[in-house]
Amino acid sequence: MSVVVAIDGPAGSGKSSVSKAVARKLGFSYLDTGAAYRVLTWACVDAGADLTNEQEVVGALRSMDYRAPTDPDRQIFSVGGVDVSQQIRGEDISARVSEVARHPQVRVELNQGFSALAAQARKGIVIEGRDITTVVVPDAPVRVLLTADEDVRIARRQAELSHGDAAALSERDRADRKVVDFMTAADGVVTIDSTHLSFDDTVDALSALVEPHLEGAAK
Ligand code: C5P
Repeated sequence: MSVVVAIDGPAGSGKSSVSKAVARKLGFSYLDTGAAYRVLTWACVDAGADLTNEQEVVGALRSMDYRAPTDPDRQIFSVGGVDVSQQIRGEDISARVSEVARHPQVRVELNQGFSALAAQARKGIVIEGRDITTVVVPDAPVRVLLTADEDVRIARRQAELSHGDAAALSERDRADRKVVDFMTAADGVVTIDSTHLSFDDTVDALSALVEPHLEGAAK
């Protein structure tokens, strides 16, 4: 049996770095679903697609040659053989990704791919995003909402420099919140508030939730 760990949370909550660290520690796969939305946004912009037109975005998604990386130590994102790992973190993609993510059919088709990857994991997988605990793997044994106060999230993001300014982060959260309520834990979802936790403490808190499920997992 493979252990699925579902993590939701806002931008800057530290969910990517924490999820990756937990996956590494436990020998699990890791899936950054936000990166897939970013890659799709890059592909749409590259193809000159109209991001407000759902059919055009769905068309770009269906024709996109993309395989999500699941090795926490090899997060390289490429589309049709072109490495876009740097570009997808740029401010222009960050500012536009919410436009792509608001289309329901885009979400349905991306989520099907995420669920399929979760089902293939060997020992376990940590999947992080916005609607993972509620839509992608609602039956996962470990479901967590990772939050932190907005000023702390902004300060952490600013420390990473290349991730855009505070206003852009808040704006993206506002746009995303109209699509998915990722600030309220659904039934059965455990909240980890990292406002007053160090990175290592947050990793430990999440690992502690996973450990009871490791016994039956494949070695
Ligand atoms: O996690 P990250 O900040 O890289 O996500 C980028 C964007 O992708 C989010 O701002 C949101 O618009 C979208 N997203 C989403 N659902 C997910 C993951 C990301 O809508 N599961």
